[in-house]
Amino acid sequence: MDASLCVAWFEEAARLVHRDRDRLTRLDAEIGDGDHGTNLDRGLTEVRKALAESPPGSPAEVLTIAGTTLIRRVGGASGPLYGSVFRQMGKALQSPVTLAAFSAAFEEGVVAVERLGKAALGDKTMVDALAPASRALALAVRDGVGVREAVEQAARAAAEGAEATIPMRARKGRASYLGERSVGHMDPGAASSALFMEALATVAREAA
Ligand code: ADP
Ligand code: MG
Repeated sequence: MDASLCVAWFEEAARLVHRDRDRLTRLDAEIGDGDHGTNLDRGLTEVRKALAESPPGSPAEVLTIAGTTLIRRVGGASGPLYGSVFRQMGKALQSPVTLAAFSAAFEEGVVAVERLGKAALGDKTMVDALAPASRALALAVRDGVGVREAVEQAARAAAEGAEATIPMRARKGRASYLGERSVGHMDPGAASSALFMEALATVAREAA
C-alpha cells in the first residue's frame, strides 16, 4: 500500500458514508440520538479536504491526518473513537506497508478503540465489526492469502459483525441507556465500520 491507495481508501469510505448517511442516521435515531450519519459524513468531508490540502507522503501520514481530523471535527463519540483507530494505526504502521504490516497496525487500532471506549466484543458497538475484521485479516496473513481476498474476507467479517449486533443489548454508548430496548436494531457505528472495510475491499480490488 502506498499513500495514494490509502487516500483512495478514505475517499471511497467518504463516498459510501455519504451514500448511506440517512441509513446510518436512521439507525442512530432508533437507539441513539440520530446524528451518526451526519457526524461521520461531515467528518469524512473534512478528512478529504485535509488530505487534499497537504498531500501526505506515506500511508502512515494519511492515517494520522485522517485520525486527527476526525477527532477535531466530529462532535459525537464516534469521532474520537474512529480518530483513535486511525491515529494508532498511523503510529504503529511499519514500512514497507505489506498486508502483514497493515494487519498488525489495524489490530493495534482496534485495541486503541477498545481501550478508549472500554468496549469489548458483544457490547453492541463498532468493536463488533472492527474486531472480527481485524481477526479475519490476521488469519489471512497467517494463511498466506492474497491482498484482495484478505481484504474481501475482512469486509465480509465486518458486515457479519454488524449484522450480529442486531440481537445484542447495548452495554456502551448512548444506546446502553435504552437497556433491553436496544435489542433488535443494528448498531450504527458497527454499520459504518462495515462501510470502512467495504471501502478498503473496493480500493484493493481496483488497485489490482
Ligand atoms: P454519539 O453516540 O455521541 O451520538 P455517534 O452517533 O456518532 O456518537 O456514534 C455512535 C456510535 O459510536 C455507536 O453506534 C457505537 O458504535 C460507537 N460507540 C459509542 N460509545 C462507544 C464506546 N464506549 N466504545 C466503542 N464504541 C462506542
Ligand atoms: Mg449519535
